Amino acid sequence: MSAAAASQGHRRVAVVGAGITGLAAALRLIQQHKDLHVDMFEASSRAGGAIQTEHRDGFLIEHGPDAFITNKPGGLQLCSDLGITDQLIGTDKQHRRSLVVHRGRPVPVPEGFMLMAPAKPTAILKTPILSFTGKLRLLSEIVRSKKSNDDDESLASFVRRRFGTETFERLVQPLVGGIYTSDPERLSLKATLPRFLEMERQHGSVIRAVLAEKRSEGNDSQLSESGARYGLFATHATGLSSVVASIVSALKSSGRSRLHLNTAVDAVKPSHERTGGWHVKISDQNQMSFQGVILSTPSWVSAGILQTLDPILATELSTIECASTAIVTTGHRLKDFTHAMDAFGLVVPAVEDRRVLAISFSSRKFTGRAPTGHVLLRTFLGGATQPGLLDLSDQDIFEIVAAEQQQLLGRSQKALFATITRYQRAMPQYHVGHLELVNRIDERLSRQRSLELAGNAYRGVGIPDCISSGYTAADRLSAELSN
Ligand SMILES: Cc1cc2nc3c(=O)[nH]c(=O)nc-3n(C[C@H](O)[C@H](O)[C@H](O)COP(=O)(O)OP(=O)(O)OC[C@H]3O[C@@H](n4cnc5c(N)ncnc54)[C@H](O)[C@@H]3O)c2cc1C
Repeated sequence: MSAAAASQGHRRVAVVGAGITGLAAALRLIQQHKDLHVDMFEASSRAGGAIQTEHRDGFLIEHGPDAFITNKPGGLQLCSDLGITDQLIGTDKQHRRSLVVHRGRPVPVPEGFMLMAPAKPTAILKTPILSFTGKLRLLSEIVRSKKSNDDDESLASFVRRRFGTETFERLVQPLVGGIYTSDPERLSLKATLPRFLEMERQHGSVIRAVLAEKRSEGNDSQLSESGARYGLFATHATGLSSVVASIVSALKSSGRSRLHLNTAVDAVKPSHERTGGWHVKISDQNQMSFQGVILSTPSWVSAGILQTLDPILATELSTIECASTAIVTTGHRLKDFTHAMDAFGLVVPAVEDRRVLAISFSSRKFTGRAPTGHVLLRTFLGGATQPGLLDLSDQDIFEIVAAEQQQLLGRSQKALFATITRYQRAMPQYHVGHLELVNRIDERLSRQRSLELAGNAYRGVGIPDCISSGYTAADRLSAELSN
C-alpha cells in the first residue's frame, strides 16, 4: 500500500496514539483530505485510550469517561461527521441534580448553582450548606470590586476573593476540583474556566453576568437547541466505545488508513533535511517514513518521543504534571440502599476529610446503564489531592469504597460486582501559568515543519476539547503539507 500510495502521489501521515484525540485527527484527515493516507500507531491492544465500555450482566459500565459536555462543539461535531447523532442520548430528566456532602450527609447543591455561579440567588438563601455569614458573603459578590490586572490566578484565589472561603470549601472546590482532579490552590482559572474571568471583566460581577445571561438565554437558539435535546451532557446509547468503534470503522472503510495496535512509537526524527518528512521509530530495528506526524500521546510520552529532536520542547512538555486517578464501579440492587439516589451523584468537599472524591449514580444519569431495580455506581478516588490512595491494593480500595457507600448512602449489602480501573498520569494539571507554558510549547513546535501535538494536556481536558484539538492538528498538518 505505501509504495503504491507514494507512486500515485498520495501523501502519508502518521498519527501516534489512538485515544479519542488521535482517532478524531485521523478521521478529519481522511474525511477532509482525499489525497492522504493515515497510519495510526497505538501502544496498547485496543483503540479508545481512556474510553472503555464493558457490558456485564445487564449493566453498561464506562471504565473511563461516561459522557461529554454539549455546550462545546467537539463531541456533537464528531458524531455529526460520523452520522451517529441519532444514537446519542441526553441525561435522564427525572434526576437532574447533584448532591454535595455536608457534615457527613448528601445535601442538594443549591438549584441553579453552576460550578461557581449562582443563577438563583433565592436558592442560596435556603441551602443548609452555607452558614448565614457564608451566604451573605457569597451574595455580596455582586458589589465587590473587580481585579485590576490580567494576571493568571488560581481557582481557589478567585473564588475566595469573589465569594468567600465558605463557598469555596463547601461548593466550588468539590464541584470544580473533581472535574480536573486537581489542587484548586494551583489550578489556573484562565486555562480551565476563563468564562468566569470574562464575566468579572465585562460585568464587574459573576452573579450579575449570570443573571444577564439568563435573561438573554432565549436568544441563543443553538445553545437552547442542544440543551433541550440532551441537557448539558450527552453520551452514546450503548456507551462511548461505540463512538470509538464508529471512527475505527469509518477509517477502515475509507481504504486509506491502517491501525497498528501493540505498536509503541519510541521517537520521531527528521528523514530528509531539505524536503522535510519524518522517520517514526517503532523499535531499534523498525522505522517508517511519513510526510507529516501528529503526536496525540499523553504529554509526558510525547516528551520522551521528542527528546532527541528538541530537548527544550521535551522539557517544556515534561513540566505539565499529570495526576493519577481510579474509578471503582459497583453494581447493586437499589433496595440495598437507604438513600433514594434521586440525583446524578454526589461530590465530596476536601474539608469533609473523606477517602473518596465523588460517587456518580451512573444509572440515574443515563438510561440503559443497569437492569430494572438495580443501580450502577462509579466511585472516584485519587487525583492531585489524594496521591497516596492509589498505592493501596485493589482489595483495600474496595473496602474503602464499601465503607464510604455505607456511611454516605446507607448501603447494607455486598455489591453484586466491583471493578477498579486505575489511570496512571492520565489527568494533566493546568496549573497557574499553564497557557503561557502551552504558548512556549507552540512556539518550539512551530520550528518543526509538519509535526503537530494534540491531546488533553494543552487547551482542555474534556472529550470535546480533545476532539477539537485533534481536528485542529489535522487541519494544520494538511495545510502545511499543501504549501
Ligand atoms: C477516569 C477519567 C474519567 C474522565 N471522564 C470524563 C468525562 O466523563 N467526560 C469528558 O469529557 N472527559 C472525561 N475525562 C477526560 C477525557 O476522557 C480524556 O482527556 C480523553 O479521553 C483523553 O484522550 P486522548 O486521546 O488525548 O488521550 P488517551 O485517551 O490517554 O489516549 C492516548 C493513547 O496513546 C497511547 N500511547 C501511549 N504511549 C504511546 C506510544 N509511545 N506509542 C503509541 N501510542 C501510545 C495510549 O495507549 C492511548 O491509547 C476523563 C478522564 C479520565 C482519566
